[in-house]
Amino acid sequence: MTNLIVKNINIRAVNVPLDKPIIAHLGTFESWPYLCIDVHTNSNSIGRSYIGPYLLSQLGSISKCIEALSKFFLDKNIKPFDFFKEGFKKTALLGYQGVGLYALAALDIAFWDVYAKEANLPLAVLLGSDLKALDTYNSRGLWLIPLDKVEKEVNDLLDNGSFNALKVRIGRDILKEDINVIEKIKKIGGDNITIMSDFNCCYEYDTALKRMLALDDIGLYWFEEPINYRNFEDCAKLSARIKTPINIGENFHGPYDLIRSINANASTYIMPDLMRIGGVSGWLKAANIAEAYNLKFSTHLYPEVSAHLMHLTPTAHWLEWVDWANPILKDTGFKINNGKYHIPNIPGTGIEWNESNIEKYKVNV
Ligand SMILES: [Mg+2]
Repeated sequence: MTNLIVKNINIRAVNVPLDKPIIAHLGTFESWPYLCIDVHTNSNSIGRSYIGPYLLSQLGSISKCIEALSKFFLDKNIKPFDFFKEGFKKTALLGYQGVGLYALAALDIAFWDVYAKEANLPLAVLLGSDLKALDTYNSRGLWLIPLDKVEKEVNDLLDNGSFNALKVRIGRDILKEDINVIEKIKKIGGDNITIMSDFNCCYEYDTALKRMLALDDIGLYWFEEPINYRNFEDCAKLSARIKTPINIGENFHGPYDLIRSINANASTYIMPDLMRIGGVSGWLKAANIAEAYNLKFSTHLYPEVSAHLMHLTPTAHWLEWVDWANPILKDTGFKINNGKYHIPNIPGTGIEWNESNIEKYKVNV
């Protein structure tokens, strides 16, 4: 692919309504903001990616950063791994984390997509794997909802893809209410259900320890982000005190955060986020680091592209499934059967746009 040249990069911003609002310690979200990238080349192939950088009010700043970074790649032969390295150098003076990294990740994913499309292979196959079914859990609900709504929600989530694993958000004011919700899920799901749990960073160390000790024998598969995500040292102390594995990583900003976390012995499991870890290129680096330390590696959001990368992740663990971006995506054949996620056997990552919905949810930034 010596002649696949970047000709134009187009960025669109959308704000997509969620069918189940997110009610978390971090806030309530009725919709989710995305930036959608199209990398046009000198061939018919177009590279596509989306990132969902959480804050609608910051889409403009990130979009500007992508635009500025794009200029360095115009009229160049696409070499995704080399581009990532160059992009990192170009944004280094902004810091290696935050807006610069998000912008680079958005471009990186689209560059890999078009690279795989031009090779006429699914991304996972281009990178050297067969296509495999992946263990996935349903993460699209069970926020901090009223207790009387839990039963219906659990049934919806289990049916919606024949799942046998799902995630519940915990850390309610009253411990008994957390216990009540978890017991309800166990009762409905039966003996074989796997329940991941997420505190969304809601506690300081002392309160986290107390709550986790109280829930340690209830049968949760993991505790996610009990305390502030930067506090690897206290997370390590919690890991040493608690039997239930702790999972962190959606807030690793680049592979170097993974190294810091490993050095601190912060958690048993990790779950990097495709955007924050640095797109496909950043992920591949993190996957190799995780293998060296035998750390089980799950995903955070972005199921479509993360699923390709789990094929290349030697310690691949669980794929987190959400459908928040589905309204802006064309159905290209991603499927869930019996709790397994299948990616379509088509060139690229499988991301294509539902243009009419992109138009419908478009926002000016
Ligand atoms: Mg989480």
